Amino acid sequence: MDNYIVSARKYRPATFHSVVGQKALTTTLKNAIQNQKLAHAYLFCGPRGVGKTTCARIFAKTINCQNLSADGEACNECESCKAFNENRSYNIYELDAASNNSVDDIRALTDQVRIPPQLGKYKVYIIDEVHMLSTAAFNAFLKTLEEPPHHAIFILATTEKHKIIPTILSRCQIYDFSRISINDIVDNLTYIAKSEQVACEPEALNAIAQKADGGMRDALSIFDQVVSFSGGNVTYQSVIENLNVLDYDYYFRLTEAILAGEVSQSLLIFDEILRKGFDGQQIISGLAGFFRDVLVCNDPATIVLFEVGDAVKAKYLDLSQKCPVDFLYKALEWSNQTDLDYRYSKNKRLLLELLLIRLSQYNRQPASADDKKKIAPLLIVSSEQPLPEPPPAAPAVEPPAETPAAPLKKGILPSISLKNPDANKPAETAQQADLSNIVLEEAFSKEDLERAWKALGEKEDDTHLKFTILGVTPELQEGNRIRIGVFNPEQQHKLVVQQAEIKYFLAQQLRNNQFELEIAITDNPADYLPYTNHEKYDFMVKKNPKLENFVKNFDLLLV
Ligand SMILES: [Zn+2]
Repeated sequence: MDNYIVSARKYRPATFHSVVGQKALTTTLKNAIQNQKLAHAYLFCGPRGVGKTTCARIFAKTINCQNLSADGEACNECESCKAFNENRSYNIYELDAASNNSVDDIRALTDQVRIPPQLGKYKVYIIDEVHMLSTAAFNAFLKTLEEPPHHAIFILATTEKHKIIPTILSRCQIYDFSRISINDIVDNLTYIAKSEQVACEPEALNAIAQKADGGMRDALSIFDQVVSFSGGNVTYQSVIENLNVLDYDYYFRLTEAILAGEVSQSLLIFDEILRKGFDGQQIISGLAGFFRDVLVCNDPATIVLFEVGDAVKAKYLDLSQKCPVDFLYKALEWSNQTDLDYRYSKNKRLLLELLLIRLSQYNRQPASADDKKKIAPLLIVSSEQPLPEPPPAAPAVEPPAETPAAPLKKGILPSISLKNPDANKPAETAQQADLSNIVLEEAFSKEDLERAWKALGEKEDDTHLKFTILGVTPELQEGNRIRIGVFNPEQQHKLVVQQAEIKYFLAQQLRNNQFELEIAITDNPADYLPYTNHEKYDFMVKKNPKLENFVKNFDLLLV
């Protein structure tokens, strides 16, 4: 531990064979060398930290080796190989185009190109991040690339292939480096941990590999960081604390609660995660990823897509057996939608809670037709647009103040009068009743509705939304339908996006959740308000036809 060398340096691969996770590609390169079919220019593309520069260096070493092994690897013993391994070979020239992207930098390189190697056969020029070269530098380089001397080989590396101009692309042999699989990263980390005598839990290495997202270099630097942090004993716990990764155990617990239909429990677990300091976006994308993993475990055919250690896999397999496939499809669909909506939602916490409630509800099978009627959703959405399910109403009995069981709009909830579906049950049972099992149906008048609507507008912070709400009057129609007639598509969109929250607010105010909300553009001509510039113009011309002449005479342009 005292002489700990940064893994990325110490364990940099020295032969094609030891490159992690790019087997097909290294085999092709090796074959090209063995068959002496070398191109003058190569383009190595792929994400950062997957071995592009490393492969370029091994390539340079191998083509200069005086004593190639039978399987086409550098011997690492001849004078040339030694010079490469000790970083003193003159046959390799590296340019980082990220910081040296001027014409002068390229000229310095092309001047070098003319000089033949003194030892070995080839000089290799590696230009890293080649997409960063300025256009002038690109052009200066193009000439050399078109007519390179026999001894010169160029290896261009980039993370952004699409930024390379076609004239360069067409002159290069292109190699696409892929992300390294979790298993390959874990295997390599296991090997390094063993060599360094660092004790590691397999789950810990798996978490590191997940975090590294396919990059070996990142995996190694995270590994080093965790080793120094945990004093040589790398546990799963130490990794997730150090990397601020959410323990998947939470997802297991959440899913168990959801499967059991325990809304309150799922909300409590969610609260616990938030208290740990995790961001909602992180939680929701983590949850969506978790459902995906459980889904791929559900089918032996897709289980290969699930990259974790065996111990963890067993846990997932166990859970996947308990999850009906249709539930997983819904869970994925809804959590993905919530993930997308998250950024735009004004009440982010509520949005996530809605998802949990909706998922928990999905698993509850109504016992009878009567029951079914009573868990009718708060919101009836007729459009195909996926929208969050309605917010929950209050629990039957207000929970004690110190428990965080009622995170939803405290202070308003207790005022709601409830009609519990089974009023004969004792109080404790009523308390445990599902939040979704509530029907509010107090009668309300047109005035009550208008008052509630006004209150909704007044509490609104978004000025545009506020005036949209205050500018319209809700109409109470037959069949408990509340019609909101807006004036233009933008207003309609704004309200539709918020309709779950609007519905929830109105339900609280009116103590009734058995209504439908219809947000439509008004068809009453008296209500017509022009929206686009052209509509406004037509509207004004109708009021004052002289305007048309005015526009014509002054040759004005309507945009
Ligand atoms: Zn050699």
